[in-house]
Amino acid sequence: MTTAKRLGLATVVLTTCGAGAAYYATMMAMKGYSVPSESLNYLVFALVAALTLLILMVFWRNVHRSVGKVRTQLETMAKTEQIALVMVDSGNELSQITRPLNELLSIVRRQTEQLRSECRELQIQSRIASAEKHHTEAIIFSISDAVIVTNRFDELILANEAAEKLLSFRLEASLRKNIDRTLSDGTLVRLIRETRSHGRSFTRKVVEHSIDQKGSPKTFSITLSCVVTPNEEVSGVVAVLHDVTREKEIARMKTDFVSNVSHELKTPLASIKAYVEMLIDGEAEDEKTRSEFYEIISAETDRLHRLIENILNISRIESGVVKVVREPCSLTAIAKQVLEVVAVQARAKNLTLNEQLAPVYYQVEGDRDMLYQSILNLVSNAIKYTPEGGTISVSVTADERRQVAVCDVSDTGAGIPPEDLPHVFDKFYRVQANKKLAKGTGLGLTLVKHIIETVHDGKLSVTSESGKGSTFSFELPILM
Ligand code: ADP
Repeated sequence: MTTAKRLGLATVVLTTCGAGAAYYATMMAMKGYSVPSESLNYLVFALVAALTLLILMVFWRNVHRSVGKVRTQLETMAKTEQIALVMVDSGNELSQITRPLNELLSIVRRQTEQLRSECRELQIQSRIASAEKHHTEAIIFSISDAVIVTNRFDELILANEAAEKLLSFRLEASLRKNIDRTLSDGTLVRLIRETRSHGRSFTRKVVEHSIDQKGSPKTFSITLSCVVTPNEEVSGVVAVLHDVTREKEIARMKTDFVSNVSHELKTPLASIKAYVEMLIDGEAEDEKTRSEFYEIISAETDRLHRLIENILNISRIESGVVKVVREPCSLTAIAKQVLEVVAVQARAKNLTLNEQLAPVYYQVEGDRDMLYQSILNLVSNAIKYTPEGGTISVSVTADERRQVAVCDVSDTGAGIPPEDLPHVFDKFYRVQANKKLAKGTGLGLTLVKHIIETVHDGKLSVTSESGKGSTFSFELPILM
């Protein structure tokens, strides 16, 4: 039962008692009985008490109504999450409480608005940070070099696909794990550790290191950088591994090439110089010796010319400035011419030259001189890399079904190891195992490849077996 109800009940009881006492006193007075003074006192007391309770009840109802209003307003605020001022009638007793309450609510409203705006700002910043994170990750994932990022505890926090492949780990399974347990290469782990522990004094360094990949060692240039926070603390390390195996190989090949070319140039030059000096000094007394000397000088000059031509032709074809004279020509006729030229060389090495040439009327469209150069390079190689007593076979056949003319140059020579086969057409590439057999520049096959495939849209291939021999073949469309 509420306080108002209790007050109401008390008022009703007291009023009923007062009214009963008054009725009793009046009746007694009307019948001529005197009313005892205590009874009158009770009567007055009951009336005063009833009156007081009545006033109290009216007062309490007012207060109760105001409290109800305040409660409704506070409940609305709670429901709508909107803080407003609490309104009560002026002069109401509750207004003494609502004033400080409103002040408090104003403070709360101000602080809530401030918090809301800070929260909005934080949400925007968090969205920007997450977009930037995705952007950075996309950049790292698109890099072809292997990238590894660690934190201050040497735990892996980011890596791209190239790194996963190179160091055989899965990023998902290795995240937040120590690189000790994740990266298969101990040296790399040590380098990352060292970089992090040296701190800022060591912000960036480049180290060359070899990592085994599927059984073959690859050289990497590893750039290690510290990640430094705005308060100058090292928060991790970024390692970028760039594969420099090919670059190093090319650099080595270029060095080899320069020394080979200079040797190749020097040898005929030295021989020309020697014979010219002998002629000047009159050491060739008879006409026969003199003409022998002239022939040697002429052959050496041709050799020099061929070498320089090879270098120039490759660079002309590569830069696209080569002049191609296309005309119908017969591979059989060209091969015959080559065989005539190399016959002396072959005889000198006691090599048998076999030929199997299709009729001359099968023609291809091409640059005669270039095709001559190609067959000459293939046959010269066969002679160079076949030991004495071997056999060289040159065949030109016509495949009418496919409408191509095929030229095969086979030998029973040194052959090419399988691991070298994919590289023999690369510029400056020389097979290590065959280097002792003949001098060269590693340019002959590159030129053939360029002439057949780049200039004539043909196809050049090789099959070979170490110690047994090789067959170089090319094919060009027959002119119908
Ligand atoms: P080079 O001037 O060294 O002969 P090439 O480009 O003509 O250069 O040949 C590249 C390499 O391929 C050679 O160094 C040689 O080792 C190998 N090669 C080419 N032809 C043959 C062959 N017929 N038999 C064995 N090895 C060959």
